[in-house]
Amino acid sequence: AERIAKVKKHFKTFPDWPKPGIMFRDMFPVFRSPEIVAEITSLFEEIVRETCSKVDVIVGLDARGFLFGPLLAQRLGTSFVPVRKRGKLPGPTIKETYVLEYGEDCFEMQEGSILPGENALIIDDLIATGGTMNAACSLVKKQQGNVVLCLVLIELVDLKGRDKVPAKLLSLVEYE
Ligand code: 5GP
Repeated sequence: AERIAKVKKHFKTFPDWPKPGIMFRDMFPVFRSPEIVAEITSLFEEIVRETCSKVDVIVGLDARGFLFGPLLAQRLGTSFVPVRKRGKLPGPTIKETYVLEYGEDCFEMQEGSILPGENALIIDDLIATGGTMNAACSLVKKQQGNVVLCLVLIELVDLKGRDKVPAKLLSLVEYE
């Protein structure tokens, strides 16, 4: 709990950004401190070793999931693959459209980035409504992978995003 409180001190909150009524939690300041980045990576590693028997691949979500995914993959000795927003990945892709507050967006993975039966861990910086994490779970399932864990740095608990996620979800830091 002490270690997590120390991490939490490095986040910055921006009220009414990007629009009125939103409390934006900015996680980028953690990267000003190599010690805090190492601590976050260690906390993630401990959680995974305690809760998952076997992880084959870490799936990072565009864009801040790309910051923590490769760090954790190095620690665990797994591969890392990206989920990207529409139109960013070359070659054949698997697509999943999901609903946003205004309109919709599309997530893609390269075909064959997850093999049938592989155990995947999905990582992102933050879960709010859960729509993003739910779409990522669908992409893993479309490739016949198993989502063994969804891992986030920050959970906005009042939005109940975890109810939308069809897999185990763990977070390091909670905000109301
Ligand atoms: P959701 O689909 O759960 O509503 O939104 C989660 C996605 O939006 C994540 O990919 C996350 O990066 C981004 N996001 C939404 N709100 C915030 C916020 O307050 N801070 C940060 N850092 N990201 C946010």
